[in-house]
Amino acid sequence: MPRIAYVNGRYLPHDDAVVHVEDRGYQFADGVYEVIGVRHGRLIDEEPHLDRLDRSLGELKLAAPLNRAAIRHVTREMLRRNLLRDGIIYLQVSRGVAPRDQQFPADPTASIVMTARRKKVDAAKMRTGVRVISLPDIRWGRPDIKSVSLLPNVLGKQQAVEAGAYEAWQVDRDGLITEGTSSNAWIVTPDGRLLTHRADRAILNGITRRTLLRIAAELDLEFAEDAFSLDQAKAAREAFLTSSSSFVLPVIQIDGITVGDGNPGPFTRRLQEWYERYIQSIQPVREYAGRVGPD
Ligand code: PMP
Repeated sequence: MPRIAYVNGRYLPHDDAVVHVEDRGYQFADGVYEVIGVRHGRLIDEEPHLDRLDRSLGELKLAAPLNRAAIRHVTREMLRRNLLRDGIIYLQVSRGVAPRDQQFPADPTASIVMTARRKKVDAAKMRTGVRVISLPDIRWGRPDIKSVSLLPNVLGKQQAVEAGAYEAWQVDRDGLITEGTSSNAWIVTPDGRLLTHRADRAILNGITRRTLLRIAAELDLEFAEDAFSLDQAKAAREAFLTSSSSFVLPVIQIDGITVGDGNPGPFTRRLQEWYERYIQSIQPVREYAGRVGPD
C-alpha cells in the first residue's frame, strides 16, 4: 500500500511530498510541529495536541493555515488513506516560502504538511525497560514551544544511541533533570513520591505527561511537579519516561547506574496499565468503525 503525505492542500505519494528550498522551516527552523499517537485506530489526545499547536503558533506569531475542523479532517483522511491503525501522525507548520531574510516576510503564507507512520509499541521495551544517559541541557530558553529547532535534541539522542541507550536526560546548570530529548522524565522517590519537572519554560509540557498526571491524581498516588536532580534519579526507586510515541516506558539504568532492582517497578507498571486502559476508553475514529475490534 503506498504511503500518502499531505502537503499544502494536496495528498501525494510520500516519495513526492516536498516543500520548496526557501521554506522558512528548512532555512531557519521557523516552524512548529505536533506528533499525535495512534493506537488501535484511536487518535490519542487529539484536542490537547491541537491546543498545544495553537499555543506554539501563537508564540511564533504565526497564523494557522487551516482551522481546527480542517486539520481534524485532514488527520482522519491521512489515517484512512494510509490505513494507519498503530503509529503516529506528524504535523508541521512553518512560516512558508519567502526570499531568505530573517525578519518575517510581509505577507507570509504558512506551509502545513502531515505524514503518517506505522509504528507498533515495542512490547519488549515496555516490559523490560530502557537505559538512559545524562547530558548537559544546552537548548535555547524556550523548549516549552514545540518548535522544529531540534539540533541539541538530535545531537543528544545520537549520543545516547552511540552509548547504547534509548534516550538522553538533559541536566540544567543546577544539576536538575529537565527532560529527555524527545520525552518527559519521571522518578519515584525512595519514599514513594512520583516526581516530574513542573511545566515551566524549561520543558515541553508533554501531552502524555499531562494525561499521566491526571491518572496519578485519579489513582490517589502521591505526586508532585517538582524537578529532581541527577543524583536523586540515580537513587530513585523507579524511573520512566513518557511521550506520544513511547507511551510510558520504564527506565532501568541511568549513566550505567541501575535504578531500583533493575526491573520496571510496580508504580511504573501500574501507570502503564492505566494509560493503556485510558487509550482503550477513547472512541476509535469513525473511519475505523467496523474495522476495530474490541481490543
Ligand atoms: N519533551 C520533548 C523535548 C519532546 O520532544 C517530547 C515529544 N514530543 C516530549 C517531551 C513528550 O511530549 P508528548 O507527550 O506530547 O509527546
